[in-house]
Amino acid sequence: MTVARALCMAGHGLGKLAGAALLLLAATASGALAQTGGPTPEGYAAQANGAKIVSPGELRLDGRRMTCGQRPTVIDDQLDDYGAAFPGFLILNSKLMARVPTSVKLWIYAHECGHQFRGPDEETADCFAVQRGRRQGWLTPEGLEEICAFIRPSKGSTMHFSGSHRCEAMRQCYADPKVR
Ligand SMILES: [Zn+2]
Repeated sequence: MTVARALCMAGHGLGKLAGAALLLLAATASGALAQTGGPTPEGYAAQANGAKIVSPGELRLDGRRMTCGQRPTVIDDQLDDYGAAFPGFLILNSKLMARVPTSVKLWIYAHECGHQFRGPDEETADCFAVQRGRRQGWLTPEGLEEICAFIRPSKGSTMHFSGSHRCEAMRQCYADPKVR
C-alpha cells in the first residue's frame, strides 16, 4: 500500500499513519476501500475520532478556497503531523495548521495535493506546491522564506541537512519558469 505522508521531516508520523491504515484495512469490509487499495475518506474518518470530511471545493484556509481536483479533505485533529495524503484524499490537522503563517498553510495543502498528482516523492511534491503557489499568486519570495523557516529543524538536529536541502530545491523550483 502506498502511504504518501506529509512534510516528512519529523519522521514520526509514518508508522502511526500506516498502522492506522492497516488497522482500518483489517477492520473494514472491502466495500470501504477505494480501488487503489487504500482507505476511502469515509472509512478513514470513521476510525479517526472527531474527524470530518470537507467536500471538494469547500475547504478554506485563511479565507482562501483550496482545491485539489475533485479530492476531499479529511480534517483530523488527532493526526500527528500537519497534513498527510492517501491516494484520493488529503488529511489536515486544523489545530496544528492554526499555528503557522498563511503561506505555510497553503503550501502544506499544495504539498499534499502534489502527492495526489505526482506520487510519493517529497521533493517533487515540494516543487509542485511552490510552482502552484507562484502561478496562483499566493506564494511570494517572503512566503517561501517562511516555509523554509518552518521546515528548518532546530539546531543540531540530524534532519538539518534534509531541511536545508529541501529549501534549496524549492527555491530553484520557484525560480524555474518550466512547470515540473
Ligand atoms: Zn510529503
